[in-house]
Amino acid sequence: MRLANLIDGALHPPASDAYFPSINPATGEACAEVPDSGAEDINRAVEAARCAFPGWSSTSAYERAMLLFRIADLLTANLNELAQLESQDNGKPVSLARRIDIPRAIANFRFFAGAVMHDHTEAHPMDGRALNVTLRQPLGPVALISPWNLPLYLLSWKIAPALATGNTAVAKPSEVTPMTAHRLAVLCVEAGLPPGVLNIVHGRGAAAGAPLVEHEGIKAVSFTGGTVTGATIARAAAPQFKKLSLELGGKNPTIICADADLDEAVPGACRAAFTNQGEICLCGSRIFVHASIYDTFLDRFVTEVDRIRVGDPADPETQFGAVVSRDHHDKVVSYIALAKEEGGTILRGGGRPQGLPDTCTDGFFIEPTVITGLGPTCRVQREEIFGPVVTVSPFDDDDHVIGMANDTPYGLSASVWTTNLNRAHRIAARLDVGTVWVNCWLLRDLRVPFGGTKASGVGREGGREALRFFTEPKNVCIQLEEPNG
Ligand code: NAD
Repeated sequence: MRLANLIDGALHPPASDAYFPSINPATGEACAEVPDSGAEDINRAVEAARCAFPGWSSTSAYERAMLLFRIADLLTANLNELAQLESQDNGKPVSLARRIDIPRAIANFRFFAGAVMHDHTEAHPMDGRALNVTLRQPLGPVALISPWNLPLYLLSWKIAPALATGNTAVAKPSEVTPMTAHRLAVLCVEAGLPPGVLNIVHGRGAAAGAPLVEHEGIKAVSFTGGTVTGATIARAAAPQFKKLSLELGGKNPTIICADADLDEAVPGACRAAFTNQGEICLCGSRIFVHASIYDTFLDRFVTEVDRIRVGDPADPETQFGAVVSRDHHDKVVSYIALAKEEGGTILRGGGRPQGLPDTCTDGFFIEPTVITGLGPTCRVQREEIFGPVVTVSPFDDDDHVIGMANDTPYGLSASVWTTNLNRAHRIAARLDVGTVWVNCWLLRDLRVPFGGTKASGVGREGGREALRFFTEPKNVCIQLEEPNG
């Protein structure tokens, strides 16, 4: 399958006519040819977005919403195919893509279509002397850059609010997982999205992403990906004073208090650690357990981990598939080796799963891995691994666990398991993160602010935060005439 760039309403090969393979992580075999695009393709896409902006930004919110609903309907009609492509490209179980990734991408379009129709702006009356009205106007062509772990889910989380608010966009999906973005491009044309409103350019970060961020025609950059890339993008965008939203890495704590309901907390912590092979920025990769229940929790936790059905992602029964690439596999494996050097005990996993079908012989598989015995300053406890590796450590009291939970460069999310609501509130208030889940994990409401602190990012996505990011507020102050007489 040869993929193409969507530019000005039509599919185009890259200017270089060069392609690189997209690899199926479960088999190690190439599944698509990805356009190796560069500055020339980006320039064309930004020009198309610039030309489309006056027309698109002057349509009504209702018209834009109807187009987004149409895209959502087409995604729904193609849900099974999209789930298969996502699984094949990323290594995630097809059942997960069918249950989470694609339904959420559909929900993103529907949510922002509805949101923009119901949005309002502020007015600040000045005691009858004047009226201030805030206009929120679209920015122009914007850049949307996304990672490989939740490909269509995260790309659509940017496209939908950008287009709903009247911007035009150039999107650059991850070069590692481009297939559903290509299908989305085809469906957008079928939906009747006017040419140039959404352009999708495939390619590598340095060759295609960097010229997109640096392009003078781009007014804002919405980026989700690694912290190091985020810093590079911030440096490139700052001299042009572009609006920036950066959603970056995480090293999230799961806190199991002495009074936690273990029937809920054990499967909850397991899901938080290993969903999507641990390749979700919000995964709880550091579990802290109150010392009084540490042994009980650990026993039950490893039993739960042993139950995870690891296998071929294409098998509908599989719960845990392959990690995304050979490079990523090698990185995760190097952290497991480091954990041993740092004095950790590998309680479960650490190697390649047994019993995989022959088709998966060359795939990038790592067992769900549980590590104990590491201190809070170990690199494995502080650095983002972004794979199926979780550490478990005991704590003495709330102050102790809050100190350890906050002691990383990251600040994305946390989950706290307790039956004491006061304790939940006290701990949540002191965690330096953007999201705290209490007795749950990844329970998402698309209206809430989403983002991180510290090295996990700058800005918030979701609901009104996204509508605000993609618009510029302008205050209009109207002096009112004195009434005659
Ligand atoms: P990455 O930073 O390597 O790549 C992300 C995207 O940026 C890709 O499309 C890539 O091509 C592009 N890119 C790379 N260099 C670029 C440059 N110089 N200029 C412009 N674009 C460039 O990240 P990844 O490996 O794809 O994703 C994994 C990371 O994403 C993890 O750190 C994870 O925590 C993070 N992530 C964060 C969130 C969140 O919401 N906070 C969500 C998902 C993933």
